[in-house]
Amino acid sequence: MHYTSTRGNACINSSQEAILKGLAEDGGLFVPEHFTYFSINDLKAMSEGSYIDVANRVLCRILDDYREETIKKCTSNAYSEGFENNEPAPLVKLNDNTSVLELWHGPTCAFKDMALQLLPELMTSAIKDTGANKTVLILVATSGDTGKAALEGFKDVEGTKIMVFFPEFGVSDMQKLQMITQEGANVHSVAISGNFDDAQTGVKNIFTDAKLIEELDRGGYVFSSANSINWGRLVPQIVYYFSSYAALLKKGVISCGERINFTVPTGNFGNILAAYYAAKMGLPVNKLICASNRNNVLTDFFHKGVYDRNRVFYKTHSPSMDILISSNLERLVYDLADKDCTTVATLMKRLKETGQYEIPKELLEKCSDLFAANYIDDEQTEKVISKYFHEYGYLSDTHTAVALGVLDRYREESLDSTHTVVVSTASPYKFGKAVAKALIEDHDPDQYTEYELLKLLEAKTSVKIPKPISDVIHKPILHKVTCSKDDMSNTLRKLLL
Ligand SMILES: *Cc1c(COP(=O)(O)O)cnc(C)c1O
Repeated sequence: MHYTSTRGNACINSSQEAILKGLAEDGGLFVPEHFTYFSINDLKAMSEGSYIDVANRVLCRILDDYREETIKKCTSNAYSEGFENNEPAPLVKLNDNTSVLELWHGPTCAFKDMALQLLPELMTSAIKDTGANKTVLILVATSGDTGKAALEGFKDVEGTKIMVFFPEFGVSDMQKLQMITQEGANVHSVAISGNFDDAQTGVKNIFTDAKLIEELDRGGYVFSSANSINWGRLVPQIVYYFSSYAALLKKGVISCGERINFTVPTGNFGNILAAYYAAKMGLPVNKLICASNRNNVLTDFFHKGVYDRNRVFYKTHSPSMDILISSNLERLVYDLADKDCTTVATLMKRLKETGQYEIPKELLEKCSDLFAANYIDDEQTEKVISKYFHEYGYLSDTHTAVALGVLDRYREESLDSTHTVVVSTASPYKFGKAVAKALIEDHDPDQYTEYELLKLLEAKTSVKIPKPISDVIHKPILHKVTCSKDDMSNTLRKLLL
């Protein structure tokens, strides 16, 4: 498969290269030149297999320069152990026209595991095949979920090392604990005194520091990135849209070819873009409902065609969606513009310089049949958590609650009763404080430690705390390195060279 950059000035010949490179040299994102198509018979066949079978069918067709045997080995390594009950993406029925696709049964209890368990496998086999004889050094700046999922994904993966920088006081207690107790011989997590932007800027500086790159090259290292614009993180996410359709078919909830909706809690636009690509590849989709929190920049985009990041940034109960620049939206705009990379490059330049852009009316019309979008705030999120717990006995995390609340609004306005799959992105225990606030009225959450709160929540709901979260409390602290935001490259030298 050939790939081009959304901004037009880069072209490569294989998925392996796209996965190793991450970002194109011109600042654009890699997109495949054409998309494969899955027929009704393919969908039927998928309904007879396991998650790994579906993954093999989908990945072999998209990543066609990987050998079938290699893909099978990668998916087996990624999705067998480490996922609760060997079921990476169980579908839970809420009522006749609503199901929840739970993507958080992996080692870090958030949906980032779905991609970050597979990406290291795809990367290391690409390194072997392309003959690169170096240790791949993965650098990550994180505000929480990605760091832990990347550490867990690359842990003890041969030929790689990973270093995660997180803001010392900018992540939740649980997220910090998960990162500083990380096991593995090839992992480092470093707390920096600064915020997430400082961490991200520091990592970008390292990536472009010619002197450091040369020193590392001599030390046998080459950089790569595991962030969400990497094609190798997007492709694994296409799989579970097919697997959820297959599960509904198998249960007889829908008939083959019947269209369904997906509601996706959205931040960087990676997850919902994977749904869009699945639809392009033949998955019968009626609506993709893009759910946001109060940082509703995407809601405005789909309603008005204007992307405008010049607005107040809110810290919300759903921090993984507190984003004002949704990087992967660039790939949708490219598609809507019929691969007109000049238009994309112009719009992205405008975004960089002025913080906003507007797409032509025709482009907005092209996606308005498929996409719906809306948002809810923190107060409504708490009400949704309470409502779904009391009406359906379903305990959702704050991000999933945003999706459920937006689905409620969409149904009130549209009267659409199409079967809808709500994509659930985290265990409720990962964001326990806000969930406890919604359900335990007579307690002030600030009085308790995070672990005490989780125990209270468990007692109240009878939903068990997942093992990776209860385990982490008792693990020894293995990473104590801290550094100032200006000292990140020296810290890297000390730890690796
Ligand atoms: C990353 C994340 C999201 C947002 O996903 P995108 O692909 O960035 O849109 C939503 N919920 C949780 C829990 C996440 O970790």
